[in-house]
Amino acid sequence: MHIIERIYIDGAFVEPHGTQWAPLFNPATEEQIGTVRLADAEDADRAVAAAKRTFTAFSNTSREERIEMLRRLHAAVADRASDLVEAMREEYGAPSSFIDFSAPRAGNVFLDMAKTLEAYEFRRRIGGAEVEMRPSGVAVAITPWNSNYSFICGKLSAAIAAGATMVIKPSEMSAIQTRVITECLHAAGLPDGVFNIVTGDGAVVGAALAAHRDVSKITFTGSTATGRTIVRMAAETMKRVTMELGGKGPSIILDDADLDVVIPQVLAAGFLNSSQACIAGTRILAPLARFGEIEGRLQEAVKDFKVGDPKDKSVRIGPMVSQKQWDRVQSYIRLGQEEGARLLAGGEGRPEGLSRGWFVRPTIFTGVNNGMRIAREEIFGPVLSLIPYHDEEEAVAVANDTDYGLQAQVFSSDVLRARRVAGRIMAGRVILNGAPHEPLAPFGGFKQSGFGREFGVFGLEAFLEPRAILG
Ligand code: NAD
Repeated sequence: MHIIERIYIDGAFVEPHGTQWAPLFNPATEEQIGTVRLADAEDADRAVAAAKRTFTAFSNTSREERIEMLRRLHAAVADRASDLVEAMREEYGAPSSFIDFSAPRAGNVFLDMAKTLEAYEFRRRIGGAEVEMRPSGVAVAITPWNSNYSFICGKLSAAIAAGATMVIKPSEMSAIQTRVITECLHAAGLPDGVFNIVTGDGAVVGAALAAHRDVSKITFTGSTATGRTIVRMAAETMKRVTMELGGKGPSIILDDADLDVVIPQVLAAGFLNSSQACIAGTRILAPLARFGEIEGRLQEAVKDFKVGDPKDKSVRIGPMVSQKQWDRVQSYIRLGQEEGARLLAGGEGRPEGLSRGWFVRPTIFTGVNNGMRIAREEIFGPVLSLIPYHDEEEAVAVANDTDYGLQAQVFSSDVLRARRVAGRIMAGRVILNGAPHEPLAPFGGFKQSGFGREFGVFGLEAFLEPRAILG
């Protein structure tokens, strides 16, 4: 049993003022594995006060000092890499394929940010003005449960690089990961108050931070609905805001694509982290001329996606994070059928042989019309929509006919053609033929997937403001 009682303020693990506790479950077994004491609004205040006290000194540290801190953070996280991965697996059933995708990125983000910081020009002359980029003040990070610690690392790395102090409000559902990552970050020995971590309810601690007058910047990753609420609260005090929200990513298979290569990639993108990922490619756009062939290939390939407890490394799809999320995904599977889509694979109920755990059958709907709710709403579970299109023109139109715009994929044997199509997609990131990760490239959304960008120079500038001194 994990008993997680303390929060982290001003360089120390302290008892929260909040007195409520919340249970923690292993979603693969439905067993309670721990309990976490929740911070409250007073704890949020204490954390902001600590970050504020430290801000002036920290914002005046040198680039070299901050690069050194980022290196120490990297080493401290690398030291506990296996504990962090274990927590991800236990706490929300992350399958190995997602851990392999996410954990190295989280570990490296401090070094990537150090590289960005080394090359960044904080000062420039514009005519008669000396312009200096300055940290915007105390920052708040609010993170979701899926891949929680990697979001903490990404946001903190940019704040440190900019010289901003931070209060982090992780998801109350990821308390185990949060405890391990807090221990790592503490071990790096940064000055007290540079970062503070308060786990609590979104509506209590998150809201207190979003409304706090001593906070200048919020970086949020989570659902579009919560993002909207936070932006409203932040508007009262004109906070700078970065929003990383939901997605309904299209995977566009062009008619010249090599299906042997592409089909496994399309499914891996669709079922990434059991489809509990904002960047999951949950709409598969297929040319009518090859539609039957693609249906057959998907039906065959989905059999490789073993569902079960991710302790088994061969498992590709783990459980949903909660009973509530399981119910929600089931209701979308029913809805898809009511809307007239046809099940190509999966369907309602539990996968065969799994009587415990919040597992969903990997489900693919075919003959989906992009106007159906299953094609428009973020399901956050392994339910993919296969949508036919006539020609490239229509593929682009369908891909863009969504409220979201986070990440898209284009598959073609002709890279120039894929690039041409990518240039017409309204998304913050477009991946051609499963191209490898580029850690310094900006990440973030168009439309209701949010605004602002993370990582590299765009991520750093999200915590900076220009100050022009004339004369
Ligand atoms: P969520 O929006 O329910 O919660 C996210 C965070 O916001 C949590 O820490 C929560 O406690 C807090 N929160 C909730 N209500 C709040 C309020 N009123 N005021 C302040 N804070 C509040 O999201 P979730 O279920 O934890 O995560 C899943 C969602 O996150 C999905 O929609 C997914 O697409 C999105 N997501 C986006 C990205 C991205 O980078 N764009 C990455 C991962 C997840």
